[in-house]
Amino acid sequence: MKMIKVTIWNEYRHEQANSPLGEYIRQIYPNGLHRYLAEHLAEDDLEIRAVSLDEPEQGLPDEILNNTDVLLWWGHCAHAEVKDELVDRIQARILHGMGLIVLHSGHLSKIFRRMMGTACRLRWREEGEKERIWVVSPSHPIAQGIPETFVLPNHEMYGEPFDIPQDGKIVFMSWFEGGNVFRSGVAFERDAGKIFYFSPGHETFPIYHDPIIQRILKNAIRWAAPQQITADRITPQPEALEKISTPNPLAALDTSVLHK
Ligand code: ZN
Repeated sequence: MKMIKVTIWNEYRHEQANSPLGEYIRQIYPNGLHRYLAEHLAEDDLEIRAVSLDEPEQGLPDEILNNTDVLLWWGHCAHAEVKDELVDRIQARILHGMGLIVLHSGHLSKIFRRMMGTACRLRWREEGEKERIWVVSPSHPIAQGIPETFVLPNHEMYGEPFDIPQDGKIVFMSWFEGGNVFRSGVAFERDAGKIFYFSPGHETFPIYHDPIIQRILKNAIRWAAPQQITADRITPQPEALEKISTPNPLAALDTSVLHK
């Protein structure tokens, strides 16, 4: 069996807040939602590690990032603290094949906005209303074993318009009690890497306790896992496979300066 190396990254601030809200969240995720997910997504083919922002090198030194097949990302209030140098390293690894699963408020993370190239803004409302989720791509690997529709009794509303690129494959759509709709599960490909955005996961509701949500995340990990990751996969100037007989009009000029 091929093992998939999974790293769950969490900014891990709300769960440690010294406030009544922090205490409330700690009842749901006593050791942080990254550790909760690591425990509850455990499967024989998944080798899962949980890391957080305040660890050395913001939780992702090279020896961890370069040993990750699929990275899960949960962030909210500390997006700006994530160093651009780390975002560069994560982006390069995704382009070479690493999978990325962006959870909930990670829609505004630096890495998701970098990979999308758009602002990734959305509408939101925190009233704890009902969310109904629909599978809209039943044949997609991430939807396997998921009921056609199911309900989260309480969630934060995320609504359209959601500023993401149009090339995403919509796997899940949500309807909210207050009248809004949202593309809640969208799959992208960026060079050799696969990316899945999944909106359920507000920290004050036990969303990740739900077995259906856990099944979706396991499906997403297996879908996003690369066959292999090769850093030198891209050849900038491949040799011609066939003889080029067209005379090069610039043959007398040194064009190599354009590529320096
Ligand atoms: Zn939230």
